[in-house]
Amino acid sequence: MTEIIAIDGPAGSGKSSVSKQVARELGYGYLDTGAAYRALALAVMNSWVPKVVEGESAEASIRAFDYSISLNPDDFWVKVGEHDVTEAIRSNDVAENVSAVAKHPEVRSFMKTLTRSLVEAARMPGVVVEGRDITTVVAPDAKNRILLTASEEVRLIRRSAELSPEAAKNVERQVSQRDAQDAKVVDFMTPAPGVALVDSTELNFEQTVAAVLSVVRD
Ligand code: C5P
Repeated sequence: MTEIIAIDGPAGSGKSSVSKQVARELGYGYLDTGAAYRALALAVMNSWVPKVVEGESAEASIRAFDYSISLNPDDFWVKVGEHDVTEAIRSNDVAENVSAVAKHPEVRSFMKTLTRSLVEAARMPGVVVEGRDITTVVAPDAKNRILLTASEEVRLIRRSAELSPEAAKNVERQVSQRDAQDAKVVDFMTPAPGVALVDSTELNFEQTVAAVLSVVRD
């Protein structure tokens, strides 16, 4: 069985870059589960699949969603059918639409199955899986489960570091709104029983990677 290292956390916690580095250091695969939610939101926006409507079945959308993703931390790509959406899923439009898609219960249950089958199909000794509900719903039995947090202020600063002041304001608004919407569906701010908390507020990137690796190696 492929070992799962489960890492959850809010937007801007540094989860993706830290998880990728942890995967490299362990020689494991890396699976970004947010990418699938983003790709589904993009597929809806581009009418590649039927709309996901609250209170209605999402089955038709899920059935038409032809998704693939790389688990290689050094060669990362995401595809919907033949479309390479690696860059497109990071757009502001997608970020603004993704929570509405992610809250649909059928979508969440599909994503759980998808994530587990991607891990199994990887045929690797282990995969670092990052998201919002990996420690609690997708892999609650994983030996290593970590919640990576940072203060809201630090998270917003990290997200905005490379942007103009105006763009940074938009990102702040968007990240806070997205966290608030997502938090209604899954609690990714407090560690569930048995989940290790790594608070990166006062840590730089290397220190955060080291803190996660020490949880895994203990
Ligand atoms: O991790 P990232 O910010 O790319 O995730 C994008 C969105 O996907 C989140 O805002 C959330 O709505 C959704 N998501 C989720 N459960 C996960 C991973 C992501 O609901 N495990």
